[in-house]
Amino acid sequence: MTAQVNAKPRGRQFFNNPGPTNIPDRILRAMDRPVMDFLAPEFLEIHRACHAGVKRVLKTDQELFIHASTGHGAWEAAVANLFSPGDLVLVIETGYFSLGWQEMGESLGLKVETLKADWRTGIDVAKITERLVKDKAHEIKGVFAVHNETATGLFLPLQDVRRAMDEAKHPALLLSDTISSLGSMEYKMDAWGIDVTVGGSQKGLMMPTGLALTGVSKKAMEASRKSKLPKYYFNWELMKARMPQKFIGTVPVHMFFGLQESIKILEEETLDAVFARHARLAEATRECVRAWGADGKGPTLFGQNKERLSNSVTTIQMPEGHTSDAMRKAALERFNLSLGGGLGPLMGKVFRIGHLGDLNEPMLLGCLATTELAMKTVGVPFAPGGVDAAIKSLAN
Ligand SMILES: *Cc1c(COP(=O)(O)O)cnc(C)c1O
Repeated sequence: MTAQVNAKPRGRQFFNNPGPTNIPDRILRAMDRPVMDFLAPEFLEIHRACHAGVKRVLKTDQELFIHASTGHGAWEAAVANLFSPGDLVLVIETGYFSLGWQEMGESLGLKVETLKADWRTGIDVAKITERLVKDKAHEIKGVFAVHNETATGLFLPLQDVRRAMDEAKHPALLLSDTISSLGSMEYKMDAWGIDVTVGGSQKGLMMPTGLALTGVSKKAMEASRKSKLPKYYFNWELMKARMPQKFIGTVPVHMFFGLQESIKILEEETLDAVFARHARLAEATRECVRAWGADGKGPTLFGQNKERLSNSVTTIQMPEGHTSDAMRKAALERFNLSLGGGLGPLMGKVFRIGHLGDLNEPMLLGCLATTELAMKTVGVPFAPGGVDAAIKSLAN
């Protein structure tokens, strides 16, 4: 039996991290081609198609920038382009990633106030209105919102945040991190009145990590002209001046080959069908977890707010006295299943199943069944019937 532990795993890895996500062969094949001049007409057409396609995915007709960076880079770009030293911004606490934006804002010289919220239920939107109404002098220049908090598995309804800002008649810019929801959950930048949307290539877009997408409203572009924080590589105005490539430095053409294919894949399925598939896989995952915890001894859903459970990632609370890390280690090393761990204060206390991107029913069922196998292997208690509950949910 020990030989099995040490053997090189066979078969394809089941990859259920909530980012990066599985890269479809079609995207890998699209990238597997010789380089070309980024100013050649053939590339400029691909570049144009990518910009138009990303705008359709973001549902915006406004400005778009594509950086060679992670999502963090694009967020830093947004801060540097919009604000000046000492500006006050409001971060809506959702979990680990919201705290990251707080830290980034502070490091870049902003005054950051965080609206506290319970990670398991999410913020009561009325609190946002209440805080903004109090800000009669309009000192708050920006509201930072994480659309889908990948650490907790809860999303924040941005339409409601917009409504809260409108009710307070507050002119602050609304910035949203849609890194783990873009291309897997509904998102409407313009209709929802979002000023800046930051997305990444490696989650719902099913790409390698390394491109970040930033949708920018007209209002935000205007605000950027007054901003005094230093920037160069990330300077939106400078990028706009570098036409036609709209990019500072060498354009990573292969990432655009992949991005063009990613948009094709999403649009062939249709965005609505993509969102419906994510909803179906997410609900099956939740049904499985509910069954595991039905006897009060097994793992349970971390999210306690039924209205806000994410369709791209499920965060699962371990039973008292059991760490998720041993179970994840067994899943990875013995069974070649990769699961997400807990982030920040949730480390060891939860694990996360990513069900976003290039995923179908057999892949999800494989993940859920193998998670049961890993729990059994390391002695984590769970009630039986989880996989059956997922099957029942999917057969509906
Ligand atoms: C993954 C993720 C990030 C970080 O993205 P990077 O591309 O790794 O910088 C930020 N916010 C959320 C909500 C995420 O899921």
